[in-house]
Amino acid sequence: MTHNNMGWNFDNSYVRLPERFFENAEPTKVSSPKTVLFNKQLAEDLGLHANELQTAEGTAILAGNTLPEGAQPIAQAYAGHQFGNFTMLGDGRAVMLGEQITPDGERKDIQLKGSGRTPFSRGGDGRATLGPMLREYIISEAMHALRIPTNRSLAVVTTGDSVRREVELPGAVLTRVADSHLRIGTFEYAARWGSEEELRELADYAINRHYPDIEDNPDRYLTFFREVVKRQAELIAEWQLVGFIHGVMNTDNMTVSGETIDYGPCAFMDVYDPATVFSSIDVQGRYAYQNQPGIGQWNLARFAEALLPLLHERQEHAIDQAKEILGEYKDFYDDYWLAGMRKKLGLHNREEQDSVLIQDLLDIMEESDADFTNTFRALTLSEPEKTPMHGEEAFTDWFQRWQERLSRQEKSRDEVFQLMKRSNPNVIPRNHRVEEALEAAVQNGDFSVTERLIEVLSAPYAYTKDQEPYIKLPEPTNRPYQTYCGT
Ligand code: AMP
Ligand code: MG
Repeated sequence: MTHNNMGWNFDNSYVRLPERFFENAEPTKVSSPKTVLFNKQLAEDLGLHANELQTAEGTAILAGNTLPEGAQPIAQAYAGHQFGNFTMLGDGRAVMLGEQITPDGERKDIQLKGSGRTPFSRGGDGRATLGPMLREYIISEAMHALRIPTNRSLAVVTTGDSVRREVELPGAVLTRVADSHLRIGTFEYAARWGSEEELRELADYAINRHYPDIEDNPDRYLTFFREVVKRQAELIAEWQLVGFIHGVMNTDNMTVSGETIDYGPCAFMDVYDPATVFSSIDVQGRYAYQNQPGIGQWNLARFAEALLPLLHERQEHAIDQAKEILGEYKDFYDDYWLAGMRKKLGLHNREEQDSVLIQDLLDIMEESDADFTNTFRALTLSEPEKTPMHGEEAFTDWFQRWQERLSRQEKSRDEVFQLMKRSNPNVIPRNHRVEEALEAAVQNGDFSVTERLIEVLSAPYAYTKDQEPYIKLPEPTNRPYQTYCGT
């Protein structure tokens, strides 16, 4: 029999960076771990043996009680601008086990979140509670199914230990899988406390890992910056197109790979209102839906500042070059967003007036408190009578203009329908559904509601009958939905 290591195949490149970038940190042992959610398909894609990982030995690994073969556990160092203020951070409640090389040759960070204190924990306990870890699992997997770049969730394990928040709550560990955890904040950290050589090593590492095509480019740091600008613009456009509100777009929560990361108080917008904010701590609405694209650019400006020493030896020159690229962000963003909105309306080709047609619809939706997802769903299914805008003159006129616009492209009804169906999700993680799932799990230890929700959200463009109960809106209430940071 060959040696069985459950398929772990680590090659840990991050720990080959200068020591400044991490601290060794072992996960803290927990008393009685139990796997409550497990992503079998993801395990298989990673080359892991799903059945073995679900045994007691596997659970011990996912809980941080034993280390898989080849792991080199560390906490990563990073800084970041939180709500506009620069501060030192680092993984205070997460431990990176290492980088799994998949059967397809991809490199994926395997990280345990909620696995105990690290040198970066400051006053925190390094722990996570069950509700927020389930929430991250549900939403990150839903985002993946929506085809939006994101870190993934492999498992949630309850620890058997309680965690002290305002009340005692069940502790949990989430296994996160990401293309990397290189954050804008990692670069800010290097720029502030590292040498120029260390900053360069970090940039070369990020380029090698995420943008290998530009490695030989003579202007590679400038090109690197431009590529990150593009990916962030595209990512945020994708968020806007499905109504995803990240909630805490601090620079430490934005990756250079262009993946969505650090799901905390995030939630999907229901009623279309550009000013929507769900996070209880975001009292100023800094990270409101309508502000996300602009904040993306603000964050990239912080990234540019960190990269300046690499861009040009003369600082003024470096600043001019960075500014020019930063100026392109809005065009990248607008192009991605407009292309996405055209698809949502079934438009295969382009016309000059499309942005007016789109904005007019959004204005009518806002006026009528129309649900964002369900409006596009109703248009996809040719059921305009199911929107609250039905019967209003402005909407009737708009609908007529849209029909005329559709008839000016040489596409059949079915081609329009297929494009819209691919571009407008039938189901999203509705806030009341997510809450219902977390409550059943946390209050009653019943994970079936969460499992069912994950299943429904795994094929958002399928438009199947069994998804229909998940389309319904919650009963109206006077209390606006609020989310809390995932601690
Ligand atoms: P987040 O809001 O999850 O992006 O976290 C912001 C910073 O706070 C990061 O440096 C985290 O590692 C740290 N942090 C959050 N919760 C805890 C905790 N319970 N214990 C220690 N550090 C934490
Ligand atoms: Mg964070």
